[in-house]
Amino acid sequence: MARAAKAVIDLTALKHNYLLAKELAPGRKAVAIIKANAYGHGAVEAAEYLSDVADAFGVACIEEALQLAENGIKQPVVLLEGFFTADELEFVDKYRMMTAVHSEWQLEALEQHAFSQPLPVLVKFDSGMHRLGFDAEGFAKAVERLQKMDHISDVIAMTHFACADELECEYTQTQMANFHAACDRFGLQHCMANSAVTLHWPEAHGDWVRPGIMLYGASPLDQQTENAARLKPVMTLSSEIIAIRELPAGEPVGYGRRFTSEQPTRVGVVAMGYADGYPRHAIDGTPVAVNGKMTRLIGKVSMDMMTLDLTDQPEAKIGDPVELWGEQVDVNQVAACSDTISYTLFTGITSRVPRIYKK
Ligand SMILES: *Cc1c(COP(=O)(O)O)cnc(C)c1O
Repeated sequence: MARAAKAVIDLTALKHNYLLAKELAPGRKAVAIIKANAYGHGAVEAAEYLSDVADAFGVACIEEALQLAENGIKQPVVLLEGFFTADELEFVDKYRMMTAVHSEWQLEALEQHAFSQPLPVLVKFDSGMHRLGFDAEGFAKAVERLQKMDHISDVIAMTHFACADELECEYTQTQMANFHAACDRFGLQHCMANSAVTLHWPEAHGDWVRPGIMLYGASPLDQQTENAARLKPVMTLSSEIIAIRELPAGEPVGYGRRFTSEQPTRVGVVAMGYADGYPRHAIDGTPVAVNGKMTRLIGKVSMDMMTLDLTDQPEAKIGDPVELWGEQVDVNQVAACSDTISYTLFTGITSRVPRIYKK
């Protein structure tokens, strides 16, 4: 009794990937990025399972940080975008969070808040992404102001790279040069490396790396590398075949008749659709696995169902398992077939899909 759509989360693979980040950046600290509900994998479950190895956890906002604190997570939690309003500093202090600082008003708020203990902060330098952070002059002033505050124990210089996933892109070097030119003279610790940098740009590992997507077993890199090949997929999204039909040549399948059979075609209907988070834009030919054998999506994905080509699998039957991505089907391939990235697929899995944790 139940719809079969589910996401199995392999926590041992998550830990393997975290330890790979630590191995690639030896002697550095690694902030496990578990924002957005651990990229859809379940933030509390991920943090609990990593709590014996993780140096710190990274989240996008105070609500995500409080969820960890309220569930007994003891590691420092990094607010990657800083606090959004000054009243959050009460909780930053109470739970000893590490906040990013990227704007003038945040410096003022830090100066004015009565902290009960000294805390480290990350001051963000805009090395070229032009999203958050101070320019060189503003950075120097911010560091000076922060170092004057008694309740700031450490100032860590932070930056973020725009193109580190593109292995041939020279802009990563440009950003590194900008960062060093503006930050080195202060003798601060450095925190720069997202997954792409952790996997591929050791010269930018700094003192704290910030792996996100790699923890979940998907490489962000635009080429395969030896390091990326060592990642293990964490989420396996699966469901079952709920109906099978045999169509003659020339018949359409699904909304809009996007797919029309060219030959007699065996069609499998699967309980998985865009309301589960499977991408509606997935093209005909997107890989799926039925009973461990690869086949393809045919026809538009609908809200609760999708349709597969079972012509080469005459033995397939109702109730057989279908993997949408995970151990057999590379999530990056599914992403490429729907003009997106693994990040949106993982974070897009909806609450209708039960997460089942495997240790
Ligand atoms: C999300 C995020 C990361 C992690 O990025 P990945 O590409 O998932 O490794 C690192 N740093 C910051 C500031 C982020 O917002």
